[in-house]
Amino acid sequence: MAVIARIVPDVTGVDKVFDYLVPESLVGNICVGDRVRVPLHNRNVAGWVLQLGDTTTQFSYVDESRLLKVIKVLGKGPSQEVVDLARWAAHMWVGRLRAFFVAASPATLVAALPGSRYTQVSTRKKFDVDAQMIDAVDGAGVSVLRRGPACSPRSLLLTAASKGPVLVVIPTINRARLMAASLREHGLSVAVMPGDWAVAAGGVDVVIGARSAVWSSAPMLKSVIVIDEHDDALQEERSPSWHARDIAIERANKLGIACVLVSPVPSLRALHGVAGVVASMDPAIEASHWPQIRIIDRRLDERWSSSMLSSELIEQLRDHSRRIVCVLNVKGRARLLACGSCRELVRCDVCEAAMTMSASKQLECPRCANVRPAVCVKCGSGKLAVIKAGVSRLREELAAAAGRRVDEVVEVSGGGTAEKSEKDKNSEVVDQTKMLFVGTEAALHRVRDVDTVVFLDIDQEISAPRYRAAEITLTLVVHAARLVARKTSGQSKTSDGLVMIQSMLADHALLRGLAVHDLSEFVEEEMSRRKIMQLPPYGALAQVSGTGVDQLADILRSNVLLQVSATNKDAVLVKSSNWETLANSISDALVTASTRGKKTLRTKTQIDPPRA
Ligand SMILES: [Zn+2]
Ligand SMILES: [Zn+2]
Repeated sequence: MAVIARIVPDVTGVDKVFDYLVPESLVGNICVGDRVRVPLHNRNVAGWVLQLGDTTTQFSYVDESRLLKVIKVLGKGPSQEVVDLARWAAHMWVGRLRAFFVAASPATLVAALPGSRYTQVSTRKKFDVDAQMIDAVDGAGVSVLRRGPACSPRSLLLTAASKGPVLVVIPTINRARLMAASLREHGLSVAVMPGDWAVAAGGVDVVIGARSAVWSSAPMLKSVIVIDEHDDALQEERSPSWHARDIAIERANKLGIACVLVSPVPSLRALHGVAGVVASMDPAIEASHWPQIRIIDRRLDERWSSSMLSSELIEQLRDHSRRIVCVLNVKGRARLLACGSCRELVRCDVCEAAMTMSASKQLECPRCANVRPAVCVKCGSGKLAVIKAGVSRLREELAAAAGRRVDEVVEVSGGGTAEKSEKDKNSEVVDQTKMLFVGTEAALHRVRDVDTVVFLDIDQEISAPRYRAAEITLTLVVHAARLVARKTSGQSKTSDGLVMIQSMLADHALLRGLAVHDLSEFVEEEMSRRKIMQLPPYGALAQVSGTGVDQLADILRSNVLLQVSATNKDAVLVKSSNWETLANSISDALVTASTRGKKTLRTKTQIDPPRA
C-alpha cells in the first residue's frame, strides 16, 4: 500500500491536478490543504494537497511506480472543510481551483497553528442583546436582518458571538479593523483576516475581514454573518467571480449552522434565498437609522434640459454652513434622451434601461436589445431631446450658484469602488478644509464630515445597461446615507444629514421607496421583472470571453437548456433557468472544445458577471 497525494500546483495557467507519492517520512505529517513542494515539468513548484488516499482505496487505479514524490511539506493551508468548499465553488463558478486555494491560504508560510483563544461569555462586557439575532443563530438556515445604514452591527455581532464562534464578512478591511477593535474592547478574541490567518485557524471568538475572510479556516463555527450583503465589494471582479454571500450561504449550509445576511437594503438574491422572511426593527427605530432622503423631480424644473442645478440644489448650495458633496459618475456616461413635450425619460419598455437613438433613427436598448420607434411612450410625441449634462462647466456653475470662488470647489475623481479608493487615499489628498466638493462616487469615500450628498443625475445609474443597475444604485445611496449620518451619530437624535437625489424618474419605485425608507414595492417590481427575463435570482447568467470563445459558443448554442447571445467583442452571455445547469453545461462545453478544437482555448467564465 502506498499513500498518494493529489496536488493543485500553484502555477498560473496550469488547470490540472497531479498525483504524487507521499514518501514514508511524510506519511502522518501531511494533511489535506497543506502547502507542499513537488516536482513538475522538470522544476520544483509549490502546491496544495487537494486529496489524500492510498492505493488500496481511492487511488487503486494509480500505478505508483510511475509517480514522482512529494518533496516536502512547506506549511499549513486551508482546512478540509474549506478545501471541500473550494471544490464546490470551483465547479459552480467554472473557475480554477488554484484561485480558491490562493484566497483560502495564509500570505506567509505557517508552520503550526497556535492554540485556541476562545473566551468565556461571562468575562465579556455587557451589551444590548438583539433578540432577532438570537433567533437567527438558534434557528440555523439563512436569515436576513434589515438594519438602517447608520445602525452599527456591533450588538448583532456581540449577540451572535455569545452563541459560539462567528465568521464575519464585511465589505472593506478598514471596517473590519474598526469593528475588531470594538469587539476586543468587549473582551472577545478576534482575528482580522488575512493577517491573522493562523490565529483564526487556531480558534477565536470572532474571525472578521473583507470578502476573502469567507475562506478562513476557522474551526467550530456557530454562525457566518455577512454585513452589507448587498455591497458589490463582496464579489471578486476577476474570474472566477465568486461572491462572498453565496460562499457564506453554502458554507453555513454544509456545516448545518446559521448564515445571517445583514443589510439596510437586502439584495434580491438574499430576499429570494429566504423566501421573503426578513427580520426588521420597529419601523420608527429603523427610520431613525436613515438620514432624510429628498427626491428632486427634475422634470418640474424649467431648466431641466440645460442645467443640472435644480432650484432646491441652489438653495442648498447657498447655505455656507453645510459641507456638500455633489456626485456625478462621469465614467461611461451615456447621452440620456427625454421627451421634449412631457419630459418623460426614454426607457426600454421591457427592462427599463435608458434607450439610445440608432443610426436608423430607431430607439435601441443596450441591455436587452429591444428596438422601437422613436416616440414617447407616455404622450406619443416624436420630439425627443438629448439631456445636456454640462459636465465640463459644472464646477464653474456650482461655484456661481453657491456664491463661491471656483477654487473653493474641490474636484474629487478616481477609482469607483471602496477598495480602490482606499488605496488611492494615500496618493491623493482631498482638501478637507473646503465646504463644497464635486466628483465621482469616489468622493463618498474620501470626504469626511459631510452634511449633504447630492446625486446630480441618478438616472445614469438607475438606467445603466447592467441588469442590476437599480440595485447598484442602492449601494451608492447607502454609502451617501452613512456619510451624512456619521457626523451627527452619537450626538443628538435628530440628524440633519441630507441625501438629495435629482432625477427625471422621480416616480420610480426605487426613489419613492428610498424617500420613505420602504423598498418593498421596488423589490416586488424588480423581482417580477427578473422573473420574466429569467435573470438572477430566478435564472443564472454567465459571461464567457477570450480567445476561442466562438468555438465554445457554438457548442453552447447546441445545448437546449441554454440561451446564448451573439458574440460581442470576444464575449457571449449565457443564460439558463438554473445555476447548476449553467455551470455543468459550460464545464462540459470546455471539455468538448478542448478535445475538438485546433486553436488553443483561452476563455474565462464569469458567473453573474459584475458588469453585465
Ligand atoms: Zn412625452
Ligand atoms: Zn431593454
